[in-house]
Amino acid sequence: MHEAPGGVRAEDRQGLPDTLAWSFVAFALFLATALVVLRHTGLAALPMALMGVATAVALLVGRSRNRPAHRRPWTFFALGAGLFLVGAVLRQVLSGSASAPLADAATLTGYGFTLAAFIAILLSRRSVRGGLHELTDGLIVTVSVGAVAVVVFTLPTATQGSLSAFALVQGVYPVVDVVVLFVIVLLSWTSTKLVASYWFLATGTFWLLVGDVGYAYIGTQGHLVGSPVMDLPFILGFAGLGAAALHPSMRSLSQPQLRPVQAWSNGRLAILVVAVLLPPTLLVAWYDSEAVSWVGAVSAALITLLLLVRAVGAVRGYARSQEGLRHQATRDALTGLSNRPHLVEQVDALIRRSETDGGRVDMLFLDIDGFKLVNDSWGHHVGDRVLNAAAARLEGIAGPTDLLARIGGDEFVLARFVGAGSNNDGQNLAAEVIDGFRTPMTVSDASLVTTVSVGLASSIGPSTAEGLLRDADTAMYRAKDAGRNRCVVFDTSMRDSVRARVETELALRHALDRDQLLLHYQPIVSLADGEIRGVEALLRWAHPGKGMISPLDFIPVAEETGLIVEIGAWVVSESLRQLASWRARSSAADPDLWMSVNVSARQLQQDSSLVAHVEAELRRYGVPAHLLILELTESAMMADPVSSALLLTQLRELGVSLAVDDFGTGHSSLSHLRRFPVSKVKIDRSFVSGIEDDADDEEIVRAVVAMSLAMGLEVVAEGIETPGQYALLNRLGVQFGQGWHFGRPAAAEDLVLRPVVSRPA
Ligand code: C2E
Ligand code: MG
Ligand code: MG
Repeated sequence: MHEAPGGVRAEDRQGLPDTLAWSFVAFALFLATALVVLRHTGLAALPMALMGVATAVALLVGRSRNRPAHRRPWTFFALGAGLFLVGAVLRQVLSGSASAPLADAATLTGYGFTLAAFIAILLSRRSVRGGLHELTDGLIVTVSVGAVAVVVFTLPTATQGSLSAFALVQGVYPVVDVVVLFVIVLLSWTSTKLVASYWFLATGTFWLLVGDVGYAYIGTQGHLVGSPVMDLPFILGFAGLGAAALHPSMRSLSQPQLRPVQAWSNGRLAILVVAVLLPPTLLVAWYDSEAVSWVGAVSAALITLLLLVRAVGAVRGYARSQEGLRHQATRDALTGLSNRPHLVEQVDALIRRSETDGGRVDMLFLDIDGFKLVNDSWGHHVGDRVLNAAAARLEGIAGPTDLLARIGGDEFVLARFVGAGSNNDGQNLAAEVIDGFRTPMTVSDASLVTTVSVGLASSIGPSTAEGLLRDADTAMYRAKDAGRNRCVVFDTSMRDSVRARVETELALRHALDRDQLLLHYQPIVSLADGEIRGVEALLRWAHPGKGMISPLDFIPVAEETGLIVEIGAWVVSESLRQLASWRARSSAADPDLWMSVNVSARQLQQDSSLVAHVEAELRRYGVPAHLLILELTESAMMADPVSSALLLTQLRELGVSLAVDDFGTGHSSLSHLRRFPVSKVKIDRSFVSGIEDDADDEEIVRAVVAMSLAMGLEVVAEGIETPGQYALLNRLGVQFGQGWHFGRPAAAEDLVLRPVVSRPA
């Protein structure tokens, strides 16, 4: 027969089967029965001897096969069990002889090892350190039970006259037992989970203690050796020790453990109450000698001291955790600066002070420029270091009475109380901050230049911290819009425009459902012959209260809120529906008339499902894909170049054409044009409007045309308003044009799709 090659190894990893531990217990019960049966025969000592040997073997086997991380405790247990056995044999052999104390020497050393084993377990789980409460509680129990043991067993045996030398040794056992008990209690109070092996150990130790109490009792009667039946508890005790070692859960006994949260369980409380009451009870109930009253008094005093230690420890611990909670509640975890609630509290106090003493509070709202980029490209750990470095820099700049807080991701606040007549105000502080960020920071061995955008608001008139924060935040956004790395001072007109923006946002959410959005169309003509070749769909919002709103006013809001995805999808559908309807009436338009549709950066994100929508709508309206031109600005393409390139390629594969809108206002980079699959370039209106008077504009247009022709791209000029612009652009080689000269954007029904302008002279 062959054994699976991995078999032995897997068994090693899992340890011994837990049935083995139970088999060992069964074996012990068999020996216990044998002991009772053989008690009057010459073989009475045999079961106990067998059990001793079996236990030592079980301990050694469990130690090597269960592979605990710490083997020492089990070695100690094995040595302890071996010495118990030696003690028991010697006791029988040397009974009555002068060397009888040798038996006790062996047994007591065995206890020493057992104790050492428990202590080794406690140390290996590293949970006792700092466990002041477990230690004091354990000691209280120990002192109390120890006092009882001394009064009940040790004192009576010690007063047995002639036997005193041996008897005193007998009286020591219960005291040793009490110490073992202490360690067992500690073990349970420092465990989060009590495993089977623990229960075997605890039960085993319990029976050993029972056995000792039995011997201690006959010791008080003046005997050293009793009936063999008195060894029964020892057999059971050994059963527990051996089973504990054989059970696979023994490994977790000596693993490092989390200390259970300090809670006074009812069980523990009950044990402690009994322990505290025992010594005084002894004094009152057992008073028969001076020795007893001494033991009672000393133990009561000790317990009182321990309770005091425990109380002081508890009060200190409570104070420390309160302090910790307070710190947590007011501090930002990453930088250790104040957090938002704490800042608000402090600023409100400053504002109240300014109301009585005069003066004002200046608040700077700071946001690190391009922080998202740092986080995205270098990872969060670098981001965290940048935040810490920024916090340190701000701490260096802030004066001793200034307030500094981190209130969000990369947002910090500096607040300064400006006394009446003082000119050490927020403006100065802002200048220092912006200057302070000029020197690069060193983060993870790299040198990084970060700038900050700052909004400044002052508490003039009735204000609150929250109001100041809002205003400074608004001003900070202006600083970002104005090009970052600067400070903008809040003024109330900003508040109005914020309000207007919020209103626009709310109204825009309903605009689509309530059919308030519509498309106007503007013709795009071939400059060579003046024929209309395409139209551009331009979005309009017929606002019930405000009339027609320009896309320049609401598209930024739609982009910010993400509404543009839904609106943009509607524009695609509606413009294709319109194109299909023109195409259906063949008299209305050129069969090759194209439709230009503007697309925002947000729509290029993967999850906007632009490609699928475009494909479905083309099919739905039966429009050939090449008649749809999607217009994108360079900055929209560059917002997320990798994902845009992928998406634009997918659109290109559908057959859709792509145009770069507003060319000349962005990077105007040739490499971008090569990188993205575009086929048209739209020259921005700003170049066209100046082209007749400004030689530079003419040069730029000439260059764009030359470059585009070289790359095989078609050029469209935007915003042609005069015949002069038309003529010049035509001469420069621009193929297509769009502008008021040819026609303003108009509703579909108002549009004349026949040549409107004669060819230039
Ligand atoms: P754009 O794509 O560059 O559109 C051309 C803009 O120039 C239109 O403004 C048009 O009315 C205007 N225009 C055309 N000819 C002339 C002219 O001869 N002189 C002058 N001064 N202006 C002229 P409009 O309709 O206000 O649209 C502004 C911008 O809004 C568009 O710029 C486009 O970027 C955006 N937009 C419009 N509709 C949509 C849309 O459906 N989706 C998206 N994402 N953006 C849109
Ligand atoms: Mg456009
Ligand atoms: Mg444009």
